[in-house]
Amino acid sequence: MCISLCPTGILELSNELNMRIAYIPRVKEGKANYCTACRRCEFGCPDWCIYILDKEEKKSEKAKT
Ligand code: SF4
Repeated sequence: MCISLCPTGILELSNELNMRIAYIPRVKEGKANYCTACRRCEFGCPDWCIYILDKEEKKSEKAKT
C-alpha cells in the first residue's frame, strides 16, 4: 500500500519478510534523497511497517545499535 501512496515513487518491495510473513518495503537504491518526508507511507500503512526518521533521529538510532 505504501508503495502506491508515495508521490515520489521511491519505494519498492524488498525480499525481506516481516513477522507477518509479508514482504517489507524499502527505498530504491540511491533514491533516499528524493523522500520529501510527507509521511503518506507511514500514515497509510495499516500494519505500521514503515516509519520516517529525520536525520538526527537516524543518527541516534544508529548509536543505539
Ligand atoms: S515520506 Fe518519503 S517515502 Fe514516504 S510517501 Fe513521502 S516521499 Fe514517499
